[in-house]
Amino acid sequence: MSYNANEKGYYGEFGGAFIPEMLYPNCEELRRNYISVMKEDSFQKEFHQLLKDYVGRPTPLYFAERLSNKYNTKIYLKREDLCHTGAHKVNNTIGQILMAKRLGKNRIIAETGAGQHGVATATVCALMGIQCVVYMGEIDIHRQAPNVARMKMLGAEVRPAKSGSKTLKDATNEAIRDWINNPVDTHYIIGSVVGPHPYPDMVARFQSIISEEIKWQLKEKEGRENPDYVVACVGGGSNAAGAYYHFLDNTDVGIIAVEAAGKGIHSGESAATSALGKVGIIHGSKTLLMQTQDGQITEPYSISAGLDYPGVGPMHAHLFKSGRGEFISITDDEAMQAGLLLSKLEGIIPAIESSHAFAILEERKFNTDDIVVINLSGRGDKDLNTYIDYFKL
Ligand SMILES: *Cc1c(COP(=O)(O)O)cnc(C)c1O
Repeated sequence: MSYNANEKGYYGEFGGAFIPEMLYPNCEELRRNYISVMKEDSFQKEFHQLLKDYVGRPTPLYFAERLSNKYNTKIYLKREDLCHTGAHKVNNTIGQILMAKRLGKNRIIAETGAGQHGVATATVCALMGIQCVVYMGEIDIHRQAPNVARMKMLGAEVRPAKSGSKTLKDATNEAIRDWINNPVDTHYIIGSVVGPHPYPDMVARFQSIISEEIKWQLKEKEGRENPDYVVACVGGGSNAAGAYYHFLDNTDVGIIAVEAAGKGIHSGESAATSALGKVGIIHGSKTLLMQTQDGQITEPYSISAGLDYPGVGPMHAHLFKSGRGEFISITDDEAMQAGLLLSKLEGIIPAIESSHAFAILEERKFNTDDIVVINLSGRGDKDLNTYIDYFKL
């Protein structure tokens, strides 16, 4: 069985491009070109140079000794929290801005919920001197004021989406409308392994630098390239896709995906898509998503804004359905405790998204000699207020 996208962008039964007719030329241009552009020597050279000098890669693969002792197994952390801007998202936006330039685009649009992807996009647009418009729900603009300020400092225009629930999905609708109206000069940077083909595959390839590095770093440290398990949190699924990518076809490597159960899987306030989701279409791809009996998308909830998404990318839907991936959901409370524990044991304050991945160590037991790599997708600075409120710090 293959765990990568086929030519039409399908992972098993999931994926594809379910888009309005008017968006077809835009997606088609990208689909025809993305693989050949990525394979160009000059592209690879520029991409890797920027990952090194601007993002700060390779990020360390760190053996977490105190955490390993506590859970009686060998735990390595892949330190995506040390990337410029504080998370893995910039790996993808660097890749896409270079793609946009190669395709002759001089204007970038993006949508953002919590603002993290908006900041990562505004960052690379500043780097390249390219015009940037970020669509954001009006409610999110108020909730995420610091990220709005960051985007403005970086020179981006933040346009409020005022329709519907005034959150992420409305911002997405506005971005799509913009792209339809500006097909020639504009590239739409999507922030996770979601959206119509070729986005999930393209974003996974850009993020695959994570597992590419894990392989040689583990070889240096342990004399073997493959861990026993790779663990990552899944919102849309981009940090997870990057961490799994080079291990997908090696079934000796266990793949563990961690979703947000919010206040409990059956509380009505959760984002545990694998447990609750059904097959449907969201943002142009066929995947698993949380929906009502009549197919209306359910509002997701998680204490971590980055996991607060009603679906998962098609790669993850396939990993779930095929049984290749083990899916675990973690509540807000479990994640917050795991974040505090990592801070105290290792001196690393994680993003609350990443804390979800660490929380599985309480229930999922590993053997003493297992090598478990946990992808530490981002740092916790952005979440300080949530930690303060939760722990009354
Ligand atoms: C955005 C974000 C996530 C979730 O997005 P994925 O596409 O699932 O990786 C996870 N961790 C951090 C730190 C994030 O900023």
